Amino acid sequence: MIAQRRKKENAKPRLGQIIMNKGEKIFVAGYRGLVGSALIRRLEREGFHNLPKCDRSQLDLSDEQAVHGFFAQEKPAIVIVAAAKVGGIKANNDFPVEFLLDNLRIQNNVIHAAHEAGVRKLLFLGSSCIYPKFAPQPIPETALLTGSLEPTNEAYAIAKIAGIKLCQAYAREYGANFISAMPTNLYGPNDNFDLNTSHVLAALLRKAHEAKMGKVRELIVWGSGNPRREFLHVDDLASACLFLLERYDSPEIINIGCGEDVSIRELAELICDVVGFEGNLAWDTTKPDGTPRKLLDITKLRNLGWQPTIPLREGIAQTYDWFLKNVAR
Ligand code: GDP
Repeated sequence: MIAQRRKKENAKPRLGQIIMNKGEKIFVAGYRGLVGSALIRRLEREGFHNLPKCDRSQLDLSDEQAVHGFFAQEKPAIVIVAAAKVGGIKANNDFPVEFLLDNLRIQNNVIHAAHEAGVRKLLFLGSSCIYPKFAPQPIPETALLTGSLEPTNEAYAIAKIAGIKLCQAYAREYGANFISAMPTNLYGPNDNFDLNTSHVLAALLRKAHEAKMGKVRELIVWGSGNPRREFLHVDDLASACLFLLERYDSPEIINIGCGEDVSIRELAELICDVVGFEGNLAWDTTKPDGTPRKLLDITKLRNLGWQPTIPLREGIAQTYDWFLKNVAR
């Protein structure tokens, strides 16, 4: 009954109809994380002020009933799904059950509840790891589901692919304006700096800082140093998300990146330079390299008129500053 009603309402033509006014209620699921907090910063800077905030203690996104209750009460106009269980290569590899199950639960609950509550537009955030391990580089959106995934993050990737497909299904079956964007590797304030669960950039910032402070001569980097990754500052991601909310209404996925990649060796050297660590790099080749290269093709986003603004060195320096004030203290 509810689904039928929603089908009728959502089936109205809606492309190009989303105009975000500053009072519109926007729910950022996962507002405390790296991505969610950047989105809130950006939205507030732009003058949006109707932004309900719930942390995990107030709303457990893996609890279906609680999520439906929240949506029925709050009735947000726009939703950004930035909530996810995330982690670096080690965490992903060690805990596939949690990465698959938690992410499926969170996204299923939020996307379904958004539909039931009549949300006008939803942005689901995926990841560049949804693409095949040996995808063509730079990776176009059309590479999705054309080959096998990288085993170290397969569980997370499968969950994210299911999220994309769910959004597309709501678009096809109910005419919902649920879009999906695929960010490349992200970094910035509020990143996770735990060495067991973090991604490479935050991990190396911490390691370089601690090596410098401890006057240690050697910094251990995982793998061979040869894999290549693209790094986007999370403030650029937030800017791209707002851009897409206002100008992109297609269920087809769209990549968000900066268009340039570096090897892990180059990244480590750059981080050491920014931090001021002058010792040597040592390579722990018992740790996995993961995907050999992940560089997104961002032609589609560029053609819409968006581009990143934060160069890598500047972004790393700013993140190091945040780390010093918020984590190293
Ligand atoms: P990925 O992009 O999903 O592979 O995730 P990560 O950001 O965790 O790792 C990217 C690459 O950095 C992999 O080749 C890792 O082996 C390498 N790497 C080097 N040192 C580290 C480290 O200290 N932590 C992490 N997480 N990765 C590291």
